[in-house]
Amino acid sequence: FDGLLADKLATPEGRNALFATLPDDGRRYSYGDVEDVSGRFANVLSGLGVKPGDRVAVQVPKSIEAIMLYLAVVRAGAVFLPLNTGYTPAEIEYFLDNASPRVFVCDPKKRTDYEALTDRLGIRLETMGVWQTHEISGGSLNDAGLAAPAAFDSVDRAAEDLAAILYTSGTTGRSKGAMLTHANLLSNAETLVDVWRFTKDDVLLHALPIFHTHGLFVATNVVLGAGASMIFLPGFSAEAVIANIADATAMMGVPTFYTRLVDEPAFDRELVGHMRLFVSGSAPLLAETHVLFEQRTGHRILERYGMTETNMNTSNPYDGERKAGTVGFPLPGVELRIVAAEDGHVLPQGEIGIIEVKGPNVFAGYWQMPEKTKEEFRDDGFFITGDVGVIDPDGYVQIVGRSKDLIISGGYNIYPKELELLLDEEQGVLESAVIGVPHADFGEGVVAVLVPRPGALLDEAAVLDSIRPKIARFKQPKRIVVVDELPRNTMGKVQKNLLRETYRDLLK
Ligand code: ATP
Ligand code: MG
Repeated sequence: FDGLLADKLATPEGRNALFATLPDDGRRYSYGDVEDVSGRFANVLSGLGVKPGDRVAVQVPKSIEAIMLYLAVVRAGAVFLPLNTGYTPAEIEYFLDNASPRVFVCDPKKRTDYEALTDRLGIRLETMGVWQTHEISGGSLNDAGLAAPAAFDSVDRAAEDLAAILYTSGTTGRSKGAMLTHANLLSNAETLVDVWRFTKDDVLLHALPIFHTHGLFVATNVVLGAGASMIFLPGFSAEAVIANIADATAMMGVPTFYTRLVDEPAFDRELVGHMRLFVSGSAPLLAETHVLFEQRTGHRILERYGMTETNMNTSNPYDGERKAGTVGFPLPGVELRIVAAEDGHVLPQGEIGIIEVKGPNVFAGYWQMPEKTKEEFRDDGFFITGDVGVIDPDGYVQIVGRSKDLIISGGYNIYPKELELLLDEEQGVLESAVIGVPHADFGEGVVAVLVPRPGALLDEAAVLDSIRPKIARFKQPKRIVVVDELPRNTMGKVQKNLLRETYRDLLK
């Protein structure tokens, strides 16, 4: 995986090529800087006793130095373990205890929160802050990096050695540590560069967080793989995207980026006419957003599907029809099948079932969970994603939901997505989430949680009346709840587990 960088640095032109611009403070990073700064951090880490295979856990604000730290950990032969910046010290304790890293790097502002914990666990604590405009606002690791030599011979690693442990988002339960190998990351980066046609002339507008597979691996590794560059924003805001997009050729985002952008009058054809590609993933993109975006900009968003455990699995085509409401075709080298939930037999095209995937992208197992790992893999090596989907007549994969969100009412399977699509069509409905909650007679009953469009008033009885003739009786919501907004995590995923918790007594 380290080779991804090495070939870019072989010539003086390669070293001088631009890697990143940081609009906030005007700094520019060349590929040579990438080598030097990651080399400095790699030297610091080695000096701290970090050995091949050791974990380095990191919970720091988004910065280009944090990307250098990622590369440094990999170059030192160690395992990068990024953690969501939103996690509290109590949550972090689980991850540190679980992963027993050699070093934990945190925000300098949080140092005192973690001192006792890391002392107790015998973990070295370091800090990394964000570099302010023309001023280096430290953190112990940044300071040590400045004093360390830039030259570092990357430690040789084999394809199957671990490069990272990335914890899943915890949408359906407790986060699991997915062990990702050098080969996993490299193969996926190469595939995506290829299918999305990235070249060294591309400039990616990077507004995603970097503790998640999307912003860290998909975005950053594709840039590195292509020898392209990025405009590195500290986070997403519609204003910052609008202010910087003129210099970009491509952007990757979660669906909420796109719903926010189409709300901005300044985000129009003229502003983005020069763009080559908009990619969406991490959560379902509403077909409506896809259509609105095209009306507004003339661009069709390219939706893809991936997971922490598998990197990217499918993508809509670069050329050819990008079908709204689908995640496209399996990527080259990825095998994908749909199986029956009950016994795992492979279903014919057009039938709904569990998505299973196999390929060089698929992870090596859950960290310290051999039992769980065994449960989630078939004997023939396919990984059971837990996503429910169907392959349409043209071969496009459509995600219908997650098996954990499947509702079983009176013995019948109900796919929330089918109802959500119907409800979203209702007058005054902005979006919806359909869940199953305990019901005395049926085991589970359907509850629909609706968000009204601005200014609209939703009436439970009226909505129920309107959808009654459109779906079978057993699928009909027993109750409709109206809320201001759906609970979402930072990646824009609707947290149905929270909704189920909130409404668990509604049908009792
Ligand atoms: P956990 O596994 O801890 O419950 P999570 O599955 O949300 O959390 P991630 O690995 O971040 O954690 O997310 C992967 C999931 O995101 C996929 O399994 C799928 O359900 C969803 N997803 C990703 N891309 C898309 C997409 N384009 N459309 C619909 N769902 C998507
Ligand atoms: Mg998951």
